[in-house]
Amino acid sequence: MNAQQQMQPIFILSEGSQRTTGRNAQRTNIMAAKAVAETVRTTLGPKGMDKMLVDSLGDVVITNDGVTILEEMSIEHPAAKMIVEVAKTQEDEVGDGTTTAVVLAGELLKQAENLIDKEIHPTVVARGYRLAAEKSLEILNSIAEPVNEADDELLRKIAVTAMTGKGAEHAKDILSKIAVRSIKSVADKEDGKLMIDIENVKIEKKVGGRVEESELIQGVVLDKEKVHPGMPRIVSSARVALLDAAIEVKNTEIETKIQVSDPAQMQAFIDMEEKMLKGKVEKVVAAGANVVFCQKGIDDMAQHFMSKKGIYAARRVSKSDMEKLSRATGAKIVTNLNDLSKEDLGFAGIVEEIKVGSENMTYVRECKNPKSVTLLIRGGTEHVVDEVKRAMEDALGDVSASLKTGKVVAGAGASEIELARGLRKFAESLSGREQLAVNAFAEAVEIIPRTLAENAGLDPIDVMTELKAAHDNAKKWIGINVFTGKVIDSWKEGIVEPLKIKTQAVSSASEVAIMILRIDDVIASAGKSKGPEMPPGGPGGGYGGEM
Ligand code: ADP
Ligand code: MG
Repeated sequence: MNAQQQMQPIFILSEGSQRTTGRNAQRTNIMAAKAVAETVRTTLGPKGMDKMLVDSLGDVVITNDGVTILEEMSIEHPAAKMIVEVAKTQEDEVGDGTTTAVVLAGELLKQAENLIDKEIHPTVVARGYRLAAEKSLEILNSIAEPVNEADDELLRKIAVTAMTGKGAEHAKDILSKIAVRSIKSVADKEDGKLMIDIENVKIEKKVGGRVEESELIQGVVLDKEKVHPGMPRIVSSARVALLDAAIEVKNTEIETKIQVSDPAQMQAFIDMEEKMLKGKVEKVVAAGANVVFCQKGIDDMAQHFMSKKGIYAARRVSKSDMEKLSRATGAKIVTNLNDLSKEDLGFAGIVEEIKVGSENMTYVRECKNPKSVTLLIRGGTEHVVDEVKRAMEDALGDVSASLKTGKVVAGAGASEIELARGLRKFAESLSGREQLAVNAFAEAVEIIPRTLAENAGLDPIDVMTELKAAHDNAKKWIGINVFTGKVIDSWKEGIVEPLKIKTQAVSSASEVAIMILRIDDVIASAGKSKGPEMPPGGPGGGYGGEM
């Protein structure tokens, strides 16, 4: 026996820690990531199914939206969580294409696994993937078509494509028009560059009515009613004051005690208070306002005086609504009532209290500068309204992303087939192992059309063969008609998506795949080790050690 064999094992981790290394670590991570992708895969495309998610309290969400599904699923595995992050990034950057990004990430890892099984080192795969991702952006950019804000018809098609297969589908004609109008009304041209702040599209939901009754209101809709029944229900040619100050006498920060010794004193005090409130209301009147939105409270007495003056007022309006009102009416938000002047007022053609469902809301319309719009979504039940809202958010995101980059591609698998084709051509210029990796990347990209076909109940092999043949004949926008199973010219059929959906999906999916591939050691400390299951057999050796 030599000295080495007599040595005690050395423990460098605390008891209960779990460690997976080498091939095993890779395998478990890839498996977890693939499992996440597999979960959302069936929802992809117009023929995709929905998921019903029930949380611990029994609340139900029915959706087709990738990021929503993954967020509700409370995923634990660290590698799986990384895939969820891909969906979130996609959601933040584009607002649509979350399922696409996740499915692509899962498939990139699956293809990588095949290469690793063929004894190709993960770092080589990672390098090939990085090359392929860069080339993909170049290819996608070169095949994209231009779009601009005058292209109403094309923009509407983008919105329809985003909503196809979602809960909102049956009302897509109306909703797509609304989506395009919303984005165009908030778009600003600055130095010839189009600026779109999607935050300016306020989405209000109201259960009741039909989805088709959803509407775009040029201006701001507030979930507020007028404070006093004596106030006018409708004010035309509204001169709007926005106050970030209470119309009250009492100073809530200091408690004051007033001692009165005879009734006359009491009366005098009340009179004084009344005079002060009247004075405050007079300031509003003197400035010429006939509508007041107050971020703070309005005293009952002040409400009474205001109603006598024919002023419409709402109180406790949220800060974000105040800002939207300011943008829409051109009013300045005034923090001191004494400073309120004519110049601070904004203008709206009509301010009106309208009953929507069972509640009163305040509509501020025909604004001086309709940069803020409100999308009021209606629908029979909470679930419908929520899913329509998600579909609308996808549509708004897509229209806005298309205008911002000014480029679009055709969907239904067309852009992916064309991309895979370009990548394979590129692979020919590379040597040996990297070529294999780039080809694997191309194969992975084809998961999108393949899944669209599968979800539509079509034979993916037949469909893919037909699609590839058409693309070899220089028809770059040939895609699948998921309803008939035939190939179609997606562009002519109006299946159009922003270029950004595809470039973002490729970037974030490849980044996460590369990151996961480069992990060869997972160390989970005890206590919070709900993470990867330690596979039987203990830590494996390097690559190709076993099997
Ligand atoms: P994601 O969360 O990735 O946006 P979707 O369920 O919205 O997932 O599906 C998007 C996919 O559906 C895209 O690949 C898109 O090209 C495709 N698609 C959209 N409309 C159609 C259509 N009418 N026919 C075929 N495919 C379509
Ligand atoms: Mg979508």
